[in-house]
Amino acid sequence: MKASSRKRGGLIICIFSFEMPDTLRQKGQRRLLIEELARKYEFDPEVLKAMERVPRHLFVDKGLEHMAYKDKPLPIAARQTISQPYTVAMQTHLLDCQKRDKVLEIGTGCGYQAAVLMAMGFHVYSIERIRELYILAQKNLVNSGFDPSGLFYGDGFSGLSQFAPFKGILVTCGAPGIPVRLKEQLSINGKMVIPVGHNEQRMLRITRTGQDDYKTEDFGAYQFVPMLGGIQK
Ligand code: SAH
Repeated sequence: MKASSRKRGGLIICIFSFEMPDTLRQKGQRRLLIEELARKYEFDPEVLKAMERVPRHLFVDKGLEHMAYKDKPLPIAARQTISQPYTVAMQTHLLDCQKRDKVLEIGTGCGYQAAVLMAMGFHVYSIERIRELYILAQKNLVNSGFDPSGLFYGDGFSGLSQFAPFKGILVTCGAPGIPVRLKEQLSINGKMVIPVGHNEQRMLRITRTGQDDYKTEDFGAYQFVPMLGGIQK
């Protein structure tokens, strides 16, 4: 907030101007990014609409704001990354959920993907194992007009059994395998979108087809930071 004062006929008038958090220029850049994504893949139009509503520049470091609307992953705090917009669009698309569905994200990071899920109208829970990022994501979500109450600080390998079952589980870190406790927290017909592998991951979609039955689909190679056990203070 900037304040300036002018003296006029003995009266001091204070003029406060709030810095625009989302300028026309940034909205324009975001529109171009969405058009670029639409050319790259036939995403669900709802996904692109949701991404157009989330100001990605408010989720990256100030010094990287000019890069926010490039289709690129960027570094965030604690040596983690904000996913590439294409990847965010793809994971949200593959999740295939409807408004008001309960969705769990593992790996909140800076909170950008969580905001996109909220903009889709899902009921969002998200877990982050690094305390600094859990706090950063809360701040970023509030800053950009989203509700941070579904964020949790903890180990995503355990999921959130107290809120299960979930219609969708979206994992944004490279998992060594399919975490059993997450699979168990899917509703019947629920889907988990999870990158699995070490240096490079396969984007898998696991659908719970019955109480003990799951179907697996493979959507190609991606690269994520690793999913690690335990919490970091
Ligand atoms: N969803 C983020 C991506 C963040 S990168 C976005 O919108 O861009 C992946 C995140 O997963 C990192 O912040 C990392 O700390 C977190 N992570 C890794 N292992 C985890 C675990 N077991 N539980 C919760 N978060 C985890």
